[in-house]
Amino acid sequence: MWSLRRWRHRRILARHPIDPQLWAGVRAQLPILDGLGADEEQRLLQRAVLFLHSKTLTALPGVPLDAAARLLLAVQAQLPLLHLADLNWYGGFHEIILYPDDFVSPQRHRDASGVEHEYDDERSGEAWQRGPVILAWPGVQSSGGWEGYNLVIHELAHKLDMLNGDANGLPPLHRDMRISDWAAAMQGAYDDLNARLDRDEHAETPIDPYAAENPAEFFAVASEYFFTAPDLLAEAYPSVYAQLRAFYRQDPLARLLRLQSEHPDYRPVDQD
Ligand SMILES: [Zn+2]
Repeated sequence: MWSLRRWRHRRILARHPIDPQLWAGVRAQLPILDGLGADEEQRLLQRAVLFLHSKTLTALPGVPLDAAARLLLAVQAQLPLLHLADLNWYGGFHEIILYPDDFVSPQRHRDASGVEHEYDDERSGEAWQRGPVILAWPGVQSSGGWEGYNLVIHELAHKLDMLNGDANGLPPLHRDMRISDWAAAMQGAYDDLNARLDRDEHAETPIDPYAAENPAEFFAVASEYFFTAPDLLAEAYPSVYAQLRAFYRQDPLARLLRLQSEHPDYRPVDQD
């Protein structure tokens, strides 16, 4: 069947071919793509081009937003969607704003007794409901490795979470998934993480303690680990890994283990 959307996509792709040399330079900054098949990498690139075509990237002074930087950002944004149907997963926003550095975000919070607290929070990223995504450029640049950190994936996970309302750690699940399974996995791990931090606020936690802030942050941080430290996530919280595998329809752990068995010195296990 003829599809206007597919025709438009093909036309955009034909008009914006990726320079192989440009891609080689960007690809070298993205070890988290290692082990993807050639067809997967090709699809990722095409979706990155379409993503750049459909979003406005606004760079504040000090952000060197050249073609390589745009591609670096877009490819990481598309990695989580690689095996999801070509639906409008990032339809809830139009703009990504890049800050030259971490920024201060005024926060307002009403506590259990109804008192409003206002404070400033230093951040490297933010995702607004029906609004833009804000990313600090140094955070984008330090993303891309198998390091349990990826600012782009983190903030865009919030956007997936917001597709069905406020960010609450529950994105719209596929038909073959059950909310009760999702909730049990996430809640169990979230409670475990909080219990560890309640016992000792400086405890060595299996994933970034920021995940203990609230269920939305737990989902965003778990998504970062899923794509960039899947071994750590699967070891600490196997049922969370299983739910994210069902949601993203990818298995980065299998990919990483295959890379490690093929190249025994691939990514030292000791990360620090
Ligand atoms: Zn967050």
